[in-house]
Parts: sequence; structure tokens; C-alpha cells
Amino acid sequence: MKSFGVYVLLSFAAAVCCVPVSKVTVQDESFAKVCFEKEPLSRKGANPMSKKLSEMQKFFGLQITGTLDNDTVEVMKKPRCGVADENIARYSTFGDGLKWKKNTITYRFVNYTPDMSQAEVDDSIRRALEVWAKVTPLRFTKLTSGTADIMISFARRSHGDNYPFDGPGSTLAHAFAPSPDIGGDAHFDDDETFTFRSSKGYVLFLVAAHEFGHSLGLSHSDNRAALMYPLYSYKDPNTFVLPQDDVRGIQSLYDPRATTTQAPTIPDVCSSPVEFDAVTTLKGEMFFFKDSYLWHSSSQSSTPQKSLISSFWPNAPTSVDAAYENPRTGNVLLFKGSNVWAFSGTQPVPGYPKSLSEFGLPSFLTKVDAAFQDARSGKTYLFWGGYFYLTRKAVESFSWVRQTFSGMSNKVAAATEKEGYAHIYSGLYMYMYDLLSGKLLRVLKNTYLLGCN
Ligand SMILES: [Zn+2]
Ligand SMILES: [Zn+2]
Repeated sequence: MKSFGVYVLLSFAAAVCCVPVSKVTVQDESFAKVCFEKEPLSRKGANPMSKKLSEMQKFFGLQITGTLDNDTVEVMKKPRCGVADENIARYSTFGDGLKWKKNTITYRFVNYTPDMSQAEVDDSIRRALEVWAKVTPLRFTKLTSGTADIMISFARRSHGDNYPFDGPGSTLAHAFAPSPDIGGDAHFDDDETFTFRSSKGYVLFLVAAHEFGHSLGLSHSDNRAALMYPLYSYKDPNTFVLPQDDVRGIQSLYDPRATTTQAPTIPDVCSSPVEFDAVTTLKGEMFFFKDSYLWHSSSQSSTPQKSLISSFWPNAPTSVDAAYENPRTGNVLLFKGSNVWAFSGTQPVPGYPKSLSEFGLPSFLTKVDAAFQDARSGKTYLFWGGYFYLTRKAVESFSWVRQTFSGMSNKVAAATEKEGYAHIYSGLYMYMYDLLSGKLLRVLKNTYLLGCN
């Protein structure tokens, strides 16, 4: 085990091997040779340099020449992850069962980058871990002291692990496969500019989500669409969905169905309140959404019924931003990112998912926060930031939330309409408004209509 750990670490060294030059020179060739010679596998075989180059060219879908041509140098220059492209496969793992033997993984910040606010770093890292938690039985707990499984740090050049960073560009970060001590740890090259969501710089969420793939036991994938592809490419973090190749990879290590003995703790929303992602009416009942779960009130039971969104609507997204019931058709619409799903009962409505722009919304909208349809007017309220769009067939108006719903200056998380009243959910409360006058009538706990005793 220990020696394998060392082997994995050795292979990282070969990865910091990206040459920042524009054309092939003699110097490039000798630099590449030095790099590749660190690779333990390359010692066997007649011409290891040429074999290794051919493998790399195959991995990146280049013409296989076995020589250091311009295309190959171009790929080597791209910003990338510092873990070696060890196996040539679709998704791949480090092998030999290198994975965590537990489902609760801890993480801790050693330090922060000055590029972003601490809250933005916290949020980026939390969401990057969530990417993996959503499709596995793994759950992540943040520690503020002591040694965590995944220690997160930002560093420049030499930083104490024999794998120094290389200044701006090329290697962005590296991480260590699951094992004690340094295993699982993720290091970010602080000579890069990390960003919250801007494409100018490297989105920390995207870089971290990739590195945590390594921290959990995934190696690189040669599938260009995969998160575990070794080269960085910008994607909108708000609409990021883990590609199928990565889902298959991580589920080969952590089977989501093997959760019966170690079920994830589903929050008890009645005793420990949460801010809901979405709330909707559906055939006279109330549905509340949080992460991958939903709770609904039921006339047969005095306590709310909970289930996975995916077991209720098998084709639905794993979590939702907003939801509403169309009072005329009885269909329920679920919003996630820039897509909208519709269900009649539990059956998907043909023609969906549709994009937000097909609902007449401007194309720059990448998500909505909350939505409801007013049964009386047939108009749909779609909330975004401090604003809402009022639509019927097309957008009819665009207004400030706090001008229409007096006193509502906080972020709207969810909304429904019931008997002429708008229920606006924000934080742990539900604000009940008269839809005609816009007057605030009552402020209630957000679980008020869920039937918590
Ligand atoms: Zn990587
Ligand atoms: Zn390091």
C-alpha cells in the first residue's frame, strides 16, 4: 500500500511537464525528455520517449508520430491539471482499489487565495465537492482544525511536497489519490488567477471539482467532454452538470445503490429548518424541494412524506431551482439551470426539457430562483435576483420584487400561489401577500404548510 502510494506520487512529478514555448527547439526536446524520464513506466521498452509521446498523442487525439511536433507542444502548453495522464481509457481510476473506505470525508482549508473573497472560495469548494456527493453515497464535512482527509491549500512554486508549481499558466493544481497523510490533499497554484465565475482567469469551482475527482480516486479521462479530461476549459459554473463519463467513473468506485447500510442523513426539515430550493402546489398538496429530496404534505399522514426527487420523477434533474404547477393542465414544471422539465403526474410531457429562452425569457438568463403561476390571470411569475418577469405567452413586464411585494428585500428562494395569495419563501420564512394589492398579510415559518407538528 505504502509503495503504491509512492508510485502514485511519483507519477505526479512527470505531469509538471508542460513547456511554455511556441515552437519546437532542441531545448524543448531535452526538457521533455527529462520530464518523461521521471516516469517510472517509461524505463521499460526500447524507445521510451517515443512510446510515451505516442501514448500522449493518442490520449489527446493528435496524429501519432512519436515525435515532439508542433501540435504536441501546443497541447503541452495548455493550462492543465498537474496529475499525470497515466492510463489511456475513458474514465480511469488509480487502480488497486485506491479509494476511501468510508462515506464521510472531511476537508479543511489550510489557507485561502487572495484572488477571491473567503466566502467565494468556501462556496466554490463546497459546490465542487457537491458535484461528487450528488452521484455517490459520499458526504463531505468541513473541519476548522486538526487534520482532514482533504487538506486544501494555495501555494506557489516549491511548497513542501517535492512537486513544485511552475508559475503562471501550464499546471493549475494537483491532488493526491486517497491514502493517509498527504493522500486526498489538493494544492492550487497561486500564481494563477482564480475566479468565482468569470472566464477571465480560472474558475476555482471547475479546477477544484476536477482535483477532487483525483482526491476521491479518479485518474484522467481521454473523453474531451469529461470533467476528468486533463485540460482546463471554461464552463458556466451555474449550469454545470457532471458529464456521464465522470458519473460512471466515480460510481465504479462508490456505488450509489450501496447506501442501504450507510444511508446519507436526510435532514428532518421539521426539527432542523432549511431554506428550500423550490416549493409548489400539486393536486392540492404542497411539495417542498431541497437538494435531491422532496417533502410533501399528505392527507393520509400527519407528518410530511419525503422521497428522492428522482424516485418521484425518474427523468427529473437531481435538484431543482424552481417549480410550479400549471393550474389549468395540472402539469408540474421543474426548473434547473437554463432548462425546464414538465410532468403530467409522474410522466414526462413530450417536447420537454425546454430552454428558458423558449419561455420567452432573455437568453442571458442561466437560471431562475423561483416561479409560480397565478390561477386567476394565467400569468407566470419568474423570479431572478431582485426582479421578476411576468409572462403569459411572452414576457409582459419586468419589475423589482420589492416594489410589487412590499418589504421583500431578501433573496426569493421559492414561491407559490394559493387561493389568490402569493407565498414568497425567503430564508426560513414564508411571506404571504395579497396578489391584487401586493400587501404583506402574514409572515410564517417556511414549513407552515408542510404539516410539521
Ligand atoms: Zn487532473
Ligand atoms: Zn503540491
